[in-house]
Amino acid sequence: MREMKVLITGYEVAPFFKRGGLGDVMGSLPKALNGVGVDCRIVVPYYIEIKDAVKSERIGEFFVYFGGKEEEIGVYKTHLPDSNCVVYFLSNKPVFVYGKGRGKNRRIDEFAFFSLAVARFVHYLSEHHKWTADIVHCNDWHTALIPLILKQKVKLSIPTLLTIHNLQYQGVGSLRVLDLLNMKDEETKELKAGKLVKNINVLGEGIIHATRVSTVSMSYAKEIANDYERSPIGPFLKKREEDCSKKDGRVIGILNGIDYDIWSPEKDNLLFHKYEHNGWEVGKRDNKQDLLRSLGLQDKPTFCFVGRMAIQKGLDVLIKTINRIAHLDVNVIILGSGDPRIQDNVLEIAQKFPWVKAEMVYSEDLAHKIYAGSDFIIIPSRYEPCGLIQMIAMSYGTIPIASDTGGLRDSILNGKNGFLFKKGKSLRLKKSIEHALHRMKDKAGFKKMVECAIKTDFSWNKSAILYKKLYKEMLNHR
Ligand code: ADP
Repeated sequence: MREMKVLITGYEVAPFFKRGGLGDVMGSLPKALNGVGVDCRIVVPYYIEIKDAVKSERIGEFFVYFGGKEEEIGVYKTHLPDSNCVVYFLSNKPVFVYGKGRGKNRRIDEFAFFSLAVARFVHYLSEHHKWTADIVHCNDWHTALIPLILKQKVKLSIPTLLTIHNLQYQGVGSLRVLDLLNMKDEETKELKAGKLVKNINVLGEGIIHATRVSTVSMSYAKEIANDYERSPIGPFLKKREEDCSKKDGRVIGILNGIDYDIWSPEKDNLLFHKYEHNGWEVGKRDNKQDLLRSLGLQDKPTFCFVGRMAIQKGLDVLIKTINRIAHLDVNVIILGSGDPRIQDNVLEIAQKFPWVKAEMVYSEDLAHKIYAGSDFIIIPSRYEPCGLIQMIAMSYGTIPIASDTGGLRDSILNGKNGFLFKKGKSLRLKKSIEHALHRMKDKAGFKKMVECAIKTDFSWNKSAILYKKLYKEMLNHR
């Protein structure tokens, strides 16, 4: 049987360009899909950072019309490291290179342009490289206009999957972007009780027009279904339910996985000391010693946080909790970057307590060292579509203490390989920390817990098969 061909697209792909978990997914799911017999290729923008750092070959070009002007798109090709997985970069000098602001709508325009380029690229690949995609898999709002563009402008009836990695980011802005694309979308106009919609909601467009919509955990899919009456995305989800059959209308949840070629202590060149899973006790001890020494901390039970400084990530709950646990003899290490106000609050608490260290940077190097050298990772997210840091931490034998929500709930077994607490509640988090310290004193019990965490399988294998099944359903449905 012919291999199914899937073109997957998003705005970031690890290790070439990564800002969060979407980058990890884009850099690992395609490899897993290739492993289960799906020919999956990746297409992302050719950012200046990539151009400077990655070796790639220019294989051609094509043209698109945007804002009434003809624009050339250069096509570059490379592979994910240590794999046969093909990655295409689409290049256009003014649009994909700009780092400076160009007004409020800059991001929406930029990604509308990229989405148009991807839709045309599907055609280009088929004509010039004899590779015809059966499915286009879009990720998050950045690429959510592709289903509409494919239908309306490129006139390709190719099934599209939209995966929502974070419902919070929707790409809301002026409808002018449809003029730039020279398109209309009559369907959006009626969405708010018959009132003319003034803004475009790019994610909403994707929700209406994609063949299927998925998200990155079963619990987050349920949360979306339960909460949508109150969400700005609600009218779009409702319209989808009305327009589609029951099965096609709902948002399906498939849990993300992690790439153990990257996130394994025995292969990780960024660690002070590599260690085999069965040598975790010595491995963690040595990494912890060096990590604490490098940060000027004493040898104590060590809790960490790694993630974006965003409201979602619950830093306010963490800060409140740190104030409540000042009497305990522990270290807390916080690594993150993002919202300057949250960064300031974190820096303030680090100044107050010498046992709290804050590094407000994006550093792969430090992140790996922290995962390996900490005993526990605190994840106080207000919501979490999937979350990868708990999976990564567990691979290094670091126990998660996380909010009972979304993908955290789907990946952590409370009391067995981690701890779950009621989200948003600093008193509950404090209790969980005390509980964790108590467990740590029980050497045999703690060993069992760490070994259970290390053995928990977060590889992509199961989820890649679920995506393949979903793609097949989409093809059979045409
Ligand atoms: P999200 O996608 O919401 O940011 P995830 O838990 O899904 O959260 O993924 C976060 C990814 O980004 C992980 O690979 C994590 O190691 C990485 N990361 C987040 N913040 C930093 C940072 N400051 N330095 C290095 N890596 C980071």
